[in-house]
Amino acid sequence: MRKKYILIIGTLFLVIMTLQAQNKRELTPAERRVIIDKGTEAPFTGKYNNNKEAGTYHCKQCNAPLYKSGDKFDSGCGWPSFDDEIKGAVTRKRDADGQRVEIICSNCEGHLGHVFLGEQFTKKNTRHCVNSISLEFIPQQRERAIFAGGCFWGVEHLLQQKWGVISAVSGYTGGKLKNPTYEQVCSGLSGHAEAVEVVFDANQISYQALAQFFMEIHDPTQIDRQGPDIGTQYRSEIFYIDEEQKKVALDLLKKLTQKGFEVATRVTKAQEFYKAESYHQDYYVKKGSQPYCHSYIKRF
Ligand SMILES: [Zn+2]
Repeated sequence: MRKKYILIIGTLFLVIMTLQAQNKRELTPAERRVIIDKGTEAPFTGKYNNNKEAGTYHCKQCNAPLYKSGDKFDSGCGWPSFDDEIKGAVTRKRDADGQRVEIICSNCEGHLGHVFLGEQFTKKNTRHCVNSISLEFIPQQRERAIFAGGCFWGVEHLLQQKWGVISAVSGYTGGKLKNPTYEQVCSGLSGHAEAVEVVFDANQISYQALAQFFMEIHDPTQIDRQGPDIGTQYRSEIFYIDEEQKKVALDLLKKLTQKGFEVATRVTKAQEFYKAESYHQDYYVKKGSQPYCHSYIKRF
């Protein structure tokens, strides 16, 4: 009897640990019918079938991000349709019917729907047919940030790949001259820094996490230089948009100082940002190479 009791307690403990590890929430009976028992909601009844808002679709059961609104299209089939998934978020497997391909959440294995190829709906020729009830839509909350940390090619390249970043643009700020050219900024006389303007989805990444990442992709202890690039235009600087960003930036600097770093990063109120010449945008993507003086180093 006692053995049985220990076994039940042990099993319960394992179930709870597994649920916690996968960050699963408890499901309603209707959600269970689809997500666990692989049912299908009736067509044209799901709440996201016609949703056209910008944002991200997460797994209802574990909250993992699965699809972006930019990949959603109107297929007329009655279920939300996407022609692409967030990389690695969705797993395909042969359906129990032996015909179709089932799609499940890669993190918690919750049932999402099926994927169909070759229907010619979009260029990607793929349709993820997903039950609305398997999804939780998180609307986009666009915010802006400006960072300077050496040659903008590398800073832009690494920030652009960060989860939650919508766009990263290379440009100039922090100087006196209006509409400066690259040559004027390179002379060091215009007072501008090579900088990157980031638009991010604050519902996917916080300003704190973004600014922390910025402090880890350049060396914040170098004064008026970054690796081989020397001059005031290569200084480390956070241009805050509002008082909240200023507080976050100063807190990060304080943390680094407490860890023994001699931080050179300035924290300054954002001024006008001038977009750089087009040949500076997406430089490494166009060149097909990696940044020469920026890479991720854990500092926090
Ligand atoms: Zn999941």
